[in-house]
Amino acid sequence: MKVLITILFSVLISQSSRASEMPIVSVRIGKSLRNILVTGLDLKRNLLFNKDVRTYNGKKTVKFNCETLTTLNKFRNTPILLATLESPTGLLSYANNKYLGMFKVITSPKGDSCDIINEIPMESYISSLLTKEMNSKWPIEALKAQAVAARTYALHKMRTQQVSKELGSDAYYDLESSEKHQVGGNFFDATESTNAASNLTSGEVLTTASGEIHPIFFHAKCGGRTLRPDQVWHNKEESYQSVNCPFCHDVGPKPWNSFITRERLKSFFVWASQQHYIKEKFSGELNSIVLVPDEIDKFTVNFYINDRPYIIEKAVLRKFFGRFIFPSNTFSINKVGDGVAVSGEGLGHGVGLCQMGAFTMAMKGWSYKKILSHYFPSHVLKKMY
Ligand SMILES: [Zn+2]
Repeated sequence: MKVLITILFSVLISQSSRASEMPIVSVRIGKSLRNILVTGLDLKRNLLFNKDVRTYNGKKTVKFNCETLTTLNKFRNTPILLATLESPTGLLSYANNKYLGMFKVITSPKGDSCDIINEIPMESYISSLLTKEMNSKWPIEALKAQAVAARTYALHKMRTQQVSKELGSDAYYDLESSEKHQVGGNFFDATESTNAASNLTSGEVLTTASGEIHPIFFHAKCGGRTLRPDQVWHNKEESYQSVNCPFCHDVGPKPWNSFITRERLKSFFVWASQQHYIKEKFSGELNSIVLVPDEIDKFTVNFYINDRPYIIEKAVLRKFFGRFIFPSNTFSINKVGDGVAVSGEGLGHGVGLCQMGAFTMAMKGWSYKKILSHYFPSHVLKKMY
């Protein structure tokens, strides 16, 4: 009986410790590469397709010539795991950067090149990322708020295996280091301050009111009011709210101005009609433009084109004209001359955490919990490990 209890107890202990283990996140750090050079000390290289494992003594650079290797999956159309690389030091170099953890080399889905993936403990990933996605010199409470947002985003991608689902086969990575997902850093991007921000919030994420992990978004500067995901991308996300942000006005990028010509506006209405962003049919002719007076905190613009009314979401204008003409979704439009003049504030999509706002709040002495509850009033802070 005593033995059984001991066994049960040890099972319980091991299960609870497993539940609280820090996850390893797989990040694609390079894609569509003709060749890959990896350097490390006492490097262990495992070629999976012919089970060739080799350990090199001392410092060694291993080269993968992807053009020859990728003939392997010419007819498969799915990535193949070619090799793993690790070093007993825990550090590897690729493209003049050092990374913690191990590397995987896979063929790209088309089979014409290679991708490289870094498998790294979550908190090391978050610490390096803070330098890239925020600024390591910012006050610690702002960094902590960013750490929670980025960790939630990454954990959601891991748990849902979204990248593999979109690909239709095992992608071998959870998220990529790019603006598409999150820009990760390397070993030397981590500082004492970013390490502290990551460790002091270790395992903490924001869940929805019903306790689920959904993506948490962030952007540089909202310009006065944050937006909900459905106001920008049309995808409903539970618990998100649009909140006032009086904190970012005096920091970061200056207000911006743009001009759109009549011809470009015509192209926009043709596109918006084709993409079904407008219900009313657009004839393709643009004889007259009238605008209902607009304000910066409105989410839509009311146009009268050829005397017909068109309600346009501001995010749709940004989608068509791009980030250069519309740095943010916070702007007002007025008719000027033969076109329309746009004046706005902010930088980025405006959904979720406003980084410039978080900076100001942290400077005022707000805690990361207070900052997060301002931008995510209906989300819940939860420790996952
Ligand atoms: Zn803001």
